[in-house]
Formats: sequence, C-alpha cells, structure tokens
Amino acid sequence: MANPNPEIKYTQLFINNEFVDAKSGKKFPTINPATGLVITQVSEGDKADVELAVAAAKKAFSRGAPWRKMSPSGRGILMNKLADLIARDINYISSLEALDNGKTFESAVGDMEASIGTLRYYAGWCDKIHGNTIPSDDGNFTVTRKEPIGVVGQIIPWNYPVMMLAWKWGPALAAGCTIVLKPAEQTPLTALYIAALAKEAGFPAGVVNVIPGYGPTAGGAITHHPDIKKVAFTGSTEIGHVIMEAAAKSNLKHVSLELGGKSPVVVFDDADVKNAAEIAHEALFGNHGQSCCAGSRTFVHEKIYDSFVQHAKELALKRKVGDPFDSTVVQGPQIDEEMFDKVLNLIKSGKDEGATVVTGGERQGNVGYFIKPTIFSNVTDNMRIAKEEIFGPVQSILKFKTLEEVIERANETSYGLAAAIITNDINKALQFSESVDAGSVWVNCYDAITPQTPFGGYKKSGIGRELGEDGLEGYLETKTISIKVPAIF
Ligand code: ADP
Repeated sequence: MANPNPEIKYTQLFINNEFVDAKSGKKFPTINPATGLVITQVSEGDKADVELAVAAAKKAFSRGAPWRKMSPSGRGILMNKLADLIARDINYISSLEALDNGKTFESAVGDMEASIGTLRYYAGWCDKIHGNTIPSDDGNFTVTRKEPIGVVGQIIPWNYPVMMLAWKWGPALAAGCTIVLKPAEQTPLTALYIAALAKEAGFPAGVVNVIPGYGPTAGGAITHHPDIKKVAFTGSTEIGHVIMEAAAKSNLKHVSLELGGKSPVVVFDDADVKNAAEIAHEALFGNHGQSCCAGSRTFVHEKIYDSFVQHAKELALKRKVGDPFDSTVVQGPQIDEEMFDKVLNLIKSGKDEGATVVTGGERQGNVGYFIKPTIFSNVTDNMRIAKEEIFGPVQSILKFKTLEEVIERANETSYGLAAAIITNDINKALQFSESVDAGSVWVNCYDAITPQTPFGGYKKSGIGRELGEDGLEGYLETKTISIKVPAIF
C-alpha cells in the first residue's frame, strides 16, 4: 500500500556499515517536488567524507578481507538477499521514492521490481565469471583470469534513483568490487535506505558506502580520487565531459558514461496509427519525460501525419497529472524548480520558433512543479525543441517522406542512445536498425530494457554499456597468466 507520509529513517552518510554525520556537520534539504516543501535535511558529504568512504572500501577490498575471501556463490547469495529485502519493503521504498522524486507510487513499484530483477540477474553471474585457456604461439600454458577492478565510484541521477543504484551495484558486486556511491542531491533518501538493507543482508563493512551531497564537491572528490579505479556515471552530457576530464587528470581511472539523448521514434504509414501513437506516447511521456532514452523526436510519415497528431492529442489529454499518491494519476511533478524552468523555457522556444501547440504548453496549477503534457506539431529539425534534450513532458512531432531521408535526419544529432521504428515492413525495420546510430533500436516497441540486454550510447550519449554481460565487463580487469612448460619431446 502507498503511504504518502513514509517515515524518514536515514538521513546520514553510510560509511563502513554505519550511518554517520558529515565531517563538516553540514546538511542540505531534499524537496518534495509535488509541493516544493522541504521533506528533511540530509548530511552533506564532501571531500573529507569521500576520503573515509574510499578508505573503508579499500580496506574491504584488501586481500584477506571477508569480501575478498567470500566464495563467488556467497556473493550471489548476499545479492539475492538484498533483492529479497527490497521486495519485502517494496511498498515503503516505493512510497519514499514517490515522495522524494515525484514519480507516481505505481511507477516507483515498477522501478523496484526492475531493480530487484537486475540484482537477481547479476547475483546469478557471480559464480560464472571466468577467463579462457588460450593456445598461445609460445607454447606456454596460458590462462586469463577476470578480476574485480577494485574500489569503484558511482554517481547517479535523480530520475530513477533506486533503479540506477541497482544498475550500478549489480555488476560491481557480482564482479567483487567495493563501492562509493553518490546519489543525486535531489533524491538521496532511497539510496540510504537500500544501504541499510545491504547491511541487514550481511554485506561486510565497507563493501558499499553511500555519500549524499552535491556534484562538484562530493562527486568531484570521487572523480578525482587516486584510489578509485573506475567511475561509473549516469547524468548529463555536460557533466560527462567533466567526469572524463577529472579521470584523466587524476589516475586515469576507467570511465563509463550513460548520458543524454534525443532519440527518434519513426512511424511509417503502414503502421496502425492508434497503436503507433500509443507507443510513441509512452516513449516520451513515461517518467514525465525525464528519461535519458525518451523518444523525444517523433517522426511521422506524411500520409498519416494528421491522423497521428489527433491520436497523440487524445492520449495527452487523457494523461492525468497530479498527486503521485493518487492511483488514478499517471504523471507527477518535474523533479525541481530548475528543471521545471528549463522545460517551460524550451516550450516557450517552440512557440517562438513557430511550432504549433497541439495541447498543453504551460504549467499545471500553481503549487509544485507540474507541467501539462505538451505536444508540438509542425516541428522542424532546426528548432531547439527538435535539437535539445528537454527532459520533460513535451512531444515534438516531425513529418517525413522517405526512409533514406528519415535515417539521415534521425542521425543528425550528437546523441545516439536509442531509436525506434514502427512498421509492418521487415525490410524497412532492418534497414533502419542497421543504419541508425544508436545503442538500442526498438522495433514496434519502446523501452525494451531488461537486465539481460546491454544499454548505452553511441556518440555523445555515452561510453560503455550497462546491463547484460557487457555491463559486467566494465567492472573487471583481465589478467593473462603464461606458464612455461618444459618440452618433453
Ligand atoms: P541532471 O541534469 O540529470 O541533474 P547532472 O549531470 O547534473 O544531471 O547530475 C547527475 C549526477 O552527477 C548527480 O549525482 C550530480 O550531483 C552529479 N554531478 C554533477 N556535477 C558533478 C561534477 N562536477 N562532478 C561529479 N559529479 C557531478
């Protein structure tokens, strides 16, 4: 059951299996985006706290430490236990997520289920990570070992707070790494609760550490730290540049980045228009448009354009916006005032640049950060709403004529996270899938993201892949061992 007033149990930093105040004693507020009011004050981590967390993670990773001596299947059992505890407390955690993030309680439950699935998937990997025996030219007996990379830093955004944690912890723990995680400053509460569950599950002290705080301070301390061997980041492309630079300037730590997008959804004239409009609607409006892989450029074939726009409008008008704890609501507030202003500013630019407002185009109510589901038609490629990542409930519908043309236009962006095509023509679907520069291509569906399937970006949408076996690879080093065998013949 949803609880709009979940008890806030943890607000301190989690270091070495203990909740502690920040060294500075500082705190920062976390805001309920539905009201704009402060939920609670949270300890604000900074460099000194990251130092302590890294020291704990380093100790937990040292040879002879319980985590290093634990059997691979033992790690899997702990990870499954953590998944069990999230399942046990799913209503509580989902309530906390809905309160801190503004997503609906129902969608938060969906996030928890996906997170549980991710942890279980990677739990299954723990005792299946192995190298090869290689017939090398030198006649040596040659084997490779896959070893955990060491202490890893993980910096996550606010749009899927628990799910992003699970995407990061799953492969890192399966590989045997130890972790310093910084949740987004907008949504620190659920990560702290999951940290408490990790302790309850029995993870040794120092294996996971959670440092809430701001990007340039706590985040910066992670990215610059010489003892962190890898930083995994999900967030904006702008900060992706900053993360890589810090990694390069410090110790050349490995970097994986999952960044922004401007993903095309291409609808052909042979598609069922109503069904296509539904897929494109969810692709954009899901999570209030706050997804890196949101289908934010809807390209519709000219023959069905007008009918598609009509269906899209009906869907947007049906989309109930309001209290995340009201079970009839599907869209809550945007995350904070900054994003709210940014989205409204981009909506204004769409109007100024001559796109047609089909519906919405303004805030809803005067409390909290609610924005009406907005659709623009007659959008052209040069408009800001067609080029920039909006990260809000704003669908831009563009018109196209041919496959060649739409492939060209779909690729005309510095992003390359996802793309979709809706058609009954298998050739078109395959031609598009092969030609589009995107890490995921979805045919007649959207957001087909599962624990088993790699996810990540081409171009400025990122480096590396998360989920699946590829996601694990990012937390492993390969060691080649060559053993000279004396000749007997
Ligand atoms: P968004 O626009 O989604 O908020 P950001 O890229 O600003 O994306 O933030 C994503 C995460 O990166 C957050 O946890 C944020 O605190 C962190 N972050 C922001 N700036 C920096 C920085 N300079 N160094 C490290 N982490 C940062």
